[in-house]
Parts: sequence; structure tokens; C-alpha cells
Amino acid sequence: MVQVNLAQKNKQQNMKEVNSFEDKTQNMITIKGIIGLIMSQIDEDDVHNNKEVISLGMGDPTAYSCFTTTRVAEEAVVDALSSTKFNGYAPTQGLPQTRKAIADYLSRDLPYKLTKDDVFVTSGCTNAIDIALSILARPGANILVPIPGFPIYQLCASFRQIEVKHFNLLPTKGWEVDLDAVKTLADENTVAIVVINPGNPCGNVYSYHHLSQIADIAKKLGIVVIADEVYGHLAFGKNPFVPMGTFGSIAPVLTLGSLSKRWLVPGWRLGWLAVTDPTSIFKQPKVMERLKKFFDIYGGPPTFIQAAVPQILEETDDVFFKKNINLLKQTSDFCFDGINKIPCLNCPQKPEGSMAVMVKLNLLLLKDISDDIDFCFKLAKEESVVILPGVAVGMKDWLRITFAVEPAFLEEAIQRIKSFCQRHACQPDRN
Ligand SMILES: *Cc1c(COP(=O)(O)O)cnc(C)c1O
Repeated sequence: MVQVNLAQKNKQQNMKEVNSFEDKTQNMITIKGIIGLIMSQIDEDDVHNNKEVISLGMGDPTAYSCFTTTRVAEEAVVDALSSTKFNGYAPTQGLPQTRKAIADYLSRDLPYKLTKDDVFVTSGCTNAIDIALSILARPGANILVPIPGFPIYQLCASFRQIEVKHFNLLPTKGWEVDLDAVKTLADENTVAIVVINPGNPCGNVYSYHHLSQIADIAKKLGIVVIADEVYGHLAFGKNPFVPMGTFGSIAPVLTLGSLSKRWLVPGWRLGWLAVTDPTSIFKQPKVMERLKKFFDIYGGPPTFIQAAVPQILEETDDVFFKKNINLLKQTSDFCFDGINKIPCLNCPQKPEGSMAVMVKLNLLLLKDISDDIDFCFKLAKEESVVILPGVAVGMKDWLRITFAVEPAFLEEAIQRIKSFCQRHACQPDRN
């Protein structure tokens, strides 16, 4: 009897711990969660205005036919699938030929060569984020994460019980990292800094010089750089895309990426984590063993998708990349100009990469909008246009607009945002 009671008591104790742990993650905003809430505004409101819903909220360009992947990628998957050679399990770290192809692909832009052993295949970049954080987790550890940023970092950190310390990106300096803030924020328990370049949600592309400054600070602090390069090469402004791994000999870099954005196939769930650490500062045998073992928890992406990767990375035509870059440049310019013509909205920095841009909301010019969430909910209800409130990426009273949208839809959406803002504008002061 006593034993049973004890067991029950332990069970209750454990449940209590689970509950208190969940509380932390429950309050967290995710992009999918908040977009779902905003969409429900439209569904419930018997579509009185008969307007087609246009989403500038989630970053999934495949909703528009102008953002379609290349035939090369489709054929590579079909070939791999119909070969019947890839119906079995892949090694948990990924097929060797896939790891090698990714190593070669990344090495094209690095001053040194990666080998297949430096690369691990993941289920999209999201899974790579979780793995990077899990590998670095230890009791008391913290990581430095940008604001505005990508909410998945906070969510993963919280599940892995890593503390998050936020530093600001500076809107008046091209959304560069506030380097002084990073220096004061870091302490002896800091293990990594997150750098998203090209940036989501700001559309920034960092210069070679700025990336080298980040590497220098990481070196001084003795920490790893987690380089989220899921938008790698999607740069269309003055700065070319420079991979953080370029500075891997200054500070070790975990490079995260995927096919999702550059190849327009987020549903294929093919990503990678590469240890870009040529001088093996981080890459001690113990760390690499831990990393390898950790992959045994995951199954990885489907084997036939992995098997298609060498062909995709080696044979995709430059014409496909150029066409997408031109389209993104066109839509981002259009978005920037259109938004800046609306009095209550201001885009401080012209987007030069990725698929999103941050827009500042001036509530003083609006008569009945209380904050960014209120703006987005009313906009969805009245105009069937979905955009992401800034709070979802850490910046209240800002908005994140995704411009990877078919030009005609983007034009229509901006027109509707404009009429919405006019309708809600304060009456001009006539004295
Ligand atoms: C889209 C995105 C990801 C996730 O990429 P997947 O390959 O779809 O998992 C990660 N980081 C950033 C900054 C993103 O925008």
C-alpha cells in the first residue's frame, strides 16, 4: 500500500513538473498560430465583401504559380523514386552522397573545403535549428537571439531549457546587429549567437565587414555562431550574399540551410546542418560524436528526396535562380514604394534579400486602431488581407510583410491596405 501511494505521489510530482514546464511554451507566439487566428477572422465574417483572401503573412511562395520549382528538381525526385533503390531507411545522419553533395555545394563559396562528415541532413531548416540548440544545451546555458527574429528559436530554446537573451537589430543601420548590446548581454553561460542572413523578417543582407565583426565578437566571447542561411543566395541589393562560414576560422559556425526557399520546395523538408569550423575549435571528437548520436533520434527526410539532392544541387540552371531573384527584386521594390506612400506606414530599410520586410506602424495617424494586432485583425476582417503583426517577431506596433507574392496580388493587397488606412485615418486638423 505504502509503495503504491509513493508511486502515485511521484507520478503527481512528475505531472506537476510537466505542467509548469508547459506554461512557459504555452504563452509563446508562433507565426502559424497567429496567422491561424487572423485567418479565422475572415472565415467567421461571412465574407461580406466578396474579396479573395490575399496572404502576405506566411512565407510560402508556392501558393503562387510564378514561384514554382525547377523541372530539374522534380525530375531528380521522380528518378530517385522510380529507381526503387531508395525505399529503405537512410543512415540517420543522411545518405553519404547527399552529405557530400551539400558539402560541395557549400564549399563553392568558402575559402576551404567541407567534407561529407561536416554535413548532416535534416528535415528542413526548422529541424536543423532544433538540433543545433539541442547539441549546445547544458544546464544554465543561454543563447543570444536577434529581435526582430524568427520565433522558432525561442520555442526550441524553451523546450530544450536554454535561456534566450535578446539583442536588437538596428533599423536605421540596415538592421545590423547591435554589437555593443551583444558584448554586454553575453556572460560565462552564453554558448551561441544566432545570425539570420539574408534576414527574415527584415530583408537585410549583411556586408562582409559586418559578418567579420560578428565573428570577432564570437571569438572574444568563446561562443559558436549559429548561421541561419535558409535564404542563402536570395540577395538582390548592393551586398552580395556572403556565407558566415567564410569566417569559420575566426569562430566556429553551425551553418543551417535547406532547399525550401531557394528551390521553392518547403514541403520537401530537406535541410542541413554543416559544421563550418576549419580549425576544429568546436569540432572536438566528443562534440561530433554527440552530434552523430543525436541524429539517431530523428528519421531524417524521406530517402528518395535525399537521393535527389546531388542532381538538384549540381544541375539546377542559373536561369532558374536569376528568374526568381529578378521577381523578388521586382516585388520587394513594389512593396517598399507602395507601403511608403501610405502615411501611417513606414518601411525604414529597403529589402535587399529574403522574402520579407518590416514596416513601422504610426498609430497616431489612425483613429481607432489600438496596436499591431488590432490593425491586422481589422485589416483581415475588412479587406481579406493577411499580414503578420510585429509582436510575432518581437516588435510591437510593427508589421511583417511577405513580398514573395504574385505581382498582381501584391498590387491588389497594397491597394486594399491603402484604402483600409484611409478609412481609419484621423480626420485632418482643420482648426
Ligand atoms: C523558413 C525559415 C526557416 C525554416 O525553413 P524550413 O526549411 O522550411 O524548415 C528557418 N529559418 C528562417 C529564418 C526561415 O525564414
